[in-house]
Order: sequence, then structure tokens, then C-alpha cells
Amino acid sequence: MVAPEAFPLLKVGGLADAAGALPKALRSLGVEATVLIPWTPGVEARRVGEVAFSFAGEEERAGLGERVEGGVRFWLLGLPDFARERLYGYPDDVRRFIRFALAGRSLAWGFDLLHLHDWPAALLALYGFPTVYTIHNLAHQGLLDPGAFFHWTGLGWNLFHMEALEFYGKVNLMKGGIVFATRVTAVSPSYMEEIQTPEFGEGLDGVLRKHRPKLRGILNGLDTLYWDPKADPHLPFPYGDWAGKARMEAHLAEALGLKPPVLGVVGRLVHQKGLDLVLEALPHLLWMGYSLVVLGSGEEILEEGFSRAMRAHPGRVHFQGGYDEALAHRIYAGSHAFLMPSRFEPCGLSQMIAMRYGTPPVARRVGGLKDTIRDGRTGVLFDSAHLEGLLSGLCRLERLDREALGRRGMAEEFSWEKPARAYLEVYREVCG
Ligand code: ADP
Repeated sequence: MVAPEAFPLLKVGGLADAAGALPKALRSLGVEATVLIPWTPGVEARRVGEVAFSFAGEEERAGLGERVEGGVRFWLLGLPDFARERLYGYPDDVRRFIRFALAGRSLAWGFDLLHLHDWPAALLALYGFPTVYTIHNLAHQGLLDPGAFFHWTGLGWNLFHMEALEFYGKVNLMKGGIVFATRVTAVSPSYMEEIQTPEFGEGLDGVLRKHRPKLRGILNGLDTLYWDPKADPHLPFPYGDWAGKARMEAHLAEALGLKPPVLGVVGRLVHQKGLDLVLEALPHLLWMGYSLVVLGSGEEILEEGFSRAMRAHPGRVHFQGGYDEALAHRIYAGSHAFLMPSRFEPCGLSQMIAMRYGTPPVARRVGGLKDTIRDGRTGVLFDSAHLEGLLSGLCRLERLDREALGRRGMAEEFSWEKPARAYLEVYREVCG
């Protein structure tokens, strides 16, 4: 497996959860996977060697680290490009990950197949290995100038046409993954359907439709050992029933100094997640009697908006920026409802976590949200991507038996066992 991030070594978002948990689940099916990720500062691993590769016609070297976690072998590629504070968000991200992929190519021989995750790994689909390419988020594609691309990789310009890498005058790595991989998966069946339409296709819906026979939608699982309200070290008192959940709700409100009931949000503060709607709906939410806790970082305008709301409404709004694993767990457990008004959602883990902790999600009817939340049974789905949608979702929740929703959610099966079997099927198709 080649991925830009993998839990528990390196995590920015849901991709890391998948790239970390899937190999573990595959192990119990008798599949042995090695996970290759960049070696970033602060990640402990044993140095086991060095790999040589060619970049822009020059020979380069990368350190190779190894670490075994939960029985899974992780390989880490030490490149100077990744000795930075963050994993993504630099102007040279595309070059950094091309270098990562080229170095990874030297390690790919000897494996039965390569499972590539998102555009940072997509380049490896071009070298004739048997490959599965998984789309975690079509919105990030890895676009670059063709001159730079062919110079760095040494690949031939004959790949620069519409049926291959070309995308409006640029090279598009995501497109390369879709076109050249043996099989392409997306992280939920609904998202796989949606991205074949212009509304969600990010300009690649036509390419996807063209390659339809090799597309598969496989829902992500959840690491249900890690996300377990009965044995969660981040909770002041773990619980397995509704009484314990109610106690957690009281505890969260008190700890944050908020008047219950508290609505919870955990996630990246980006356009995709639709959290501007939560901000817009805030006066209505407060009027309806809710308080709000938001944990997440991202776009400055949203961070500022939530900070301002917290100052303006003491005792009703709590915002915390940055990453906080413990608080995230407490919000999943202690919220009255979990809000997820995403504009699009490839799979989404947060709603599954919330359900597992007995907290009904109120979410938009898109992608993986649609595939994991049973509307009116384990949570509430709404259609409109405007504040009316969110508010009507909450009104519906209040007419339902929240405890029954929470109980059913806690009993849902979200583990990686089923997804791992589905991937194994795809691996079998690839390896023949
Ligand atoms: P995405 O991959 O689009 O970010 P997902 O819902 O698939 O969204 O996964 C998000 C994961 O990251 C969840 O496990 C969530 O708990 C975690 N997460 C996101 N933001 C934070 C944060 N600020 N602090 C702690 N955990 C976070």
C-alpha cells in the first residue's frame, strides 16, 4: 500500500484511518500488506536501509525506515522534502509526492499488487504493476505543468493526451490513477456514483464514466477496537448503554461550561464540510435552545467565525482549534447530536464514530453519509445544502425518539471486516 498518511504513524484525515486499518483487517484474511508512507519529523522508526531512484535525470537517495504496528509493517521514506512542519499545504506538494512515488517505485518489485491511495500515490499506476487505485477525495487531483512532470519522471510525452494524463493543458495525477490502474475504487458506493456526474465529478466525471467497468465503491470501515465507548481511555467513564451516554452528555456540557443540550462538530474547517452553514445557522440554533461545541482547524474565515461566536455567546458556544484526540472522543460521546452538513462526503468517519457512541448524526444526504446513516433510524439525513436543510434536520430529530436512534446506532456494524473482504475480491480480480 502506498499512501501519503497512515494511522497511527501519521494522520491528517480519514485517509490515514483507512490506510492504517485496512492492512490490519486484511491480515486476518491472510493477506500481508506493507504500508509505505513519507517519513515525517517526529515519527519513530528503525532505519533499515536506503533506496536509490532517479528524479529529473539525477540519481537521488532516500532513507528507509521500518516500524511494525499491530502486526502491520510500515515502511517510511525519508526525503528532505518531508522534513517540514505539515504534511500538505505547500506550493511544491505535487513535486514532493512525485519524488515520494518515484522513490517508492524502487521498493514496489516483489509485491503481488500495489494498492495506491489518492493522487499522491497515483503516479505508480503508470508503471505496469497490477494496481488498485482508491479515490478518497476527488477534489484534490495533483495538477502540474507537463514540462516539469516529464522532466522529473523521465516518462514519455506520448502520455500527454486526453485519454491519458492531459487535463486542460496540465498533467493530472488523479486522472492518471483512474486511467492506468487495473481497478479503481472510491470509499463509498454512493460517492462512486456521484463522481460520475458533473455535479460531483470535479471535471473527471467523463473519464470515470469511460472507465466504468473497472470502478468499485467500497465503504470504509471503522477501527471498532479503537473507537469503542466501552473501552475508551479518553472518556472519563466508558459506557455501553444509554444511561452511560446520558452521563457523558452531562459531563461534556459541564466540562466545557455549556448549557445542555450540546450539538457537536469535529472536523476539518473546509468548504467541503459545509460548516459555514453551522455558523450561519447559529442564531437559530441558540434560539432553539442548543449550545455548540466545534473542534477543528482549517480555513481562517471559519476559525475566526467560530472564535467570534464563542466570545459573543459565553456558556453557549465553545470553539477549539487544532487537533485534539481526547476532546474529539468526548464530543462524539457527549453531544446531543453530531452535525455533518457536508457539501460532498466521500465516506466520512465522524458520523460512524458518533453513531457508535450513541450520538445521532444530523447530516446531508450525500456520499458515504447516505450509505452509513439510516434516516430516521440511526440519524437524520437532510437534502438542502442551505441552513434551512440543517435546521429542518434538527427539527426532525426532535420529533424522533433520540434514545432509540442512539441505541440502534450503537448496535450498527461498522468494522473493517466486510470492507476488507470486498477489497480482497478486487485484489483477486487484479491478480487473476
Ligand atoms: P476527512 O477525512 O474528510 O477529514 P472523515 O470524517 O473521514 O473526514 O475523518 C476525519 C477524522 O479525523 C475523524 O477520525 C475525526 O475524528 C478526526 N478529526 C478531524 N479533525 C480533528 C481534530 N481537530 N481533532 C481531533 N480529531 C479530528
